[in-house]
Amino acid sequence: MDKTVNNKRSRGHSAGTAKLERPTRAEAEAAVRTLLRWAGDDPDREGLRATPARVVRAYEEWFSGYKDEPQDYLKRTFEETGGYDEVVVLRDIRFESHCEHHMAPIIGRIHIGYLPRNRVVGISKLARLVEVYARRLQIQEKLTAEIAACLDEVLKPHGVAVVTEGTHQCMTTRGVHKPGVTMVTSRMLGVFRDHAETRQEFLSAIGMRHAGSIVNGSG
Ligand SMILES: [Zn+2]
Repeated sequence: MDKTVNNKRSRGHSAGTAKLERPTRAEAEAAVRTLLRWAGDDPDREGLRATPARVVRAYEEWFSGYKDEPQDYLKRTFEETGGYDEVVVLRDIRFESHCEHHMAPIIGRIHIGYLPRNRVVGISKLARLVEVYARRLQIQEKLTAEIAACLDEVLKPHGVAVVTEGTHQCMTTRGVHKPGVTMVTSRMLGVFRDHAETRQEFLSAIGMRHAGSIVNGSG
């Protein structure tokens, strides 16, 4: 029943990286020392001596999403709907991710909607799903699309809608320096893509009443 085969492509992210040999902790810390020197500082001065170890530990947290496979996780945790057949919306799921171009934080909110066929998933599971994808190097379009694809694959609902609002620190603190700019990406599948009314119902529920022009993100 589960057609995991046609989803190999979207799982390639973690599958592909798993093949790479992971450096040792000492190698990772040495790389941070190099970056400290690149920044113009002395890694041996007192305030920086423990920094490489701290940064490497922080990376374990920020990028912990590589060790989890969200599809497998959701497959274990969905429940039967018990006849519920209205749109389910979970809005304002906070996420913290890092852009794959600068490794700078992307911080924002994700809104998820789906119209169940016969499977639903608990709120905490959806939040966990977001977290697993967010704790990888990302671009916002891909993050949005991956979450939608995963829900679509596992729950097989009538449709999935995902809207992501993110602030990219690579845009706000460097380069073009545009504080306050929020990037909005969306992915609409099934009835949310095909029926303007259902899409509008979702956008209203997440407080984007006038966002009728939102279209699918790339990818
Ligand atoms: Zn960036």
